[in-house]
Amino acid sequence: MKVILKKGKGESLKRFHPWVFSGAVNRIEGCPSEGNIVDVYSFEGDFLGRGHYQKGSITVRILSFEKRAIDDVFWYEMLRKAYDMRNTLGLITPDTNSYRLVHGEGDNLPGLVIDIYDNVAVLQAHSAGMYVQRNKIAQALLRIYGEQLKAVYNKSEGTAPFKAGLDLADGYLYIGESDAVLSDILEKGETVAMENGNKFYVNWIEGQKTGFFLDQRDNRALVGKFVRDKRVLNLFCYTGGFSVYALMGGASCVDSVDSSSKAIELLERNVALNFGADASSIRHNSFCCDAIEYMRNCEVGKYDLIIVDPPAFAKHRDVLDNALRAYKKLNASAIEKVAPGGIVFTYSCSQVVDKSDFALAVFSAAAMAKRKVRILYRLTQPADHPVNIYHPEGEYLKGLVLYVE
Ligand code: SAH
Repeated sequence: MKVILKKGKGESLKRFHPWVFSGAVNRIEGCPSEGNIVDVYSFEGDFLGRGHYQKGSITVRILSFEKRAIDDVFWYEMLRKAYDMRNTLGLITPDTNSYRLVHGEGDNLPGLVIDIYDNVAVLQAHSAGMYVQRNKIAQALLRIYGEQLKAVYNKSEGTAPFKAGLDLADGYLYIGESDAVLSDILEKGETVAMENGNKFYVNWIEGQKTGFFLDQRDNRALVGKFVRDKRVLNLFCYTGGFSVYALMGGASCVDSVDSSSKAIELLERNVALNFGADASSIRHNSFCCDAIEYMRNCEVGKYDLIIVDPPAFAKHRDVLDNALRAYKKLNASAIEKVAPGGIVFTYSCSQVVDKSDFALAVFSAAAMAKRKVRILYRLTQPADHPVNIYHPEGEYLKGLVLYVE
């Protein structure tokens, strides 16, 4: 089956950008179903690439710019490359057993995310094609990890295209030889992930995304360096990633805020998991409420360090202006309320908000709060969330560390 592009629309593929937009398509030969493999040709008849077909604004996600079979060998080789990169960079250690193995376009596998939590892989398909291939992908994972891989869980109901008629259902694609401990883990969908020596319960069945926000690992470690004897506020804390690092780093107290009661429940268990019997001496409080409301009522100077890590305010370009206003207001309140000489760690994970949009929103926020602000760091996603140089859109996480006089 062939997708033939309009005249002049093959240039971005020649520069290895992995998407074919619907507006670039001249005609389709054959009758591909969503998730099928198709070959893309220029108007002049040159082969450009081979990838997954889907209805919608992105018609083809390219898997290979060569005419190679998309078979078991392909999946094995691609996942092997992803694994080897993480392994040779030293991202997989006894202290950090949880990481992103596949980051979509960043690993030349558009539409696929695989997160590893200790010995469980959580697969998330963002395209019909990856959903269709899920069992082959699970088999390739097994070839790479061998018996040390205990399970592969498919969590794509919320991310794969529901209109494609794929009969989406979450569940295990593979379960290794099971004992009582493992079957308990798999039934609950919960294990202990280790990150820089800190422990976190991760629940892939009930949690958000694949269960944990692995993309903040390096940024959490940075927070850990600035917190000694500081009063810390962690807004949008989820299961307490930043909170545990702050407590480990010697914060004098940490307050964590999230509107999800499930997240707060897991956060409290995570504090207990890391501090055990000492948990009562740890000065930690959690608040299950709206973070914006919390900031409105927060007194000036109560915190020396504030972390602001909201969910993506803009998922589409058409709501970009609203999102930028929301970032501005939220950051203005953090900058206004932080103690003199305080630090604000602020993030945006909206893909459609680029670095300069975000910097401008934070700049306006500082002006609104009328405080003197210096940028200490510009942050992004860690190395296990790589950006394909031909697909700059893959850089989605932006952070600024601000010193507020
Ligand atoms: N910082 C976290 C990840 C944050 S994800 C980490 O390191 O793991 C965003 C979080 O914001 C989610 O947990 C979600 O439940 C929470 N959230 C969304 N809207 C909110 C609101 N209005 N007030 C408080 N929390 C909110």
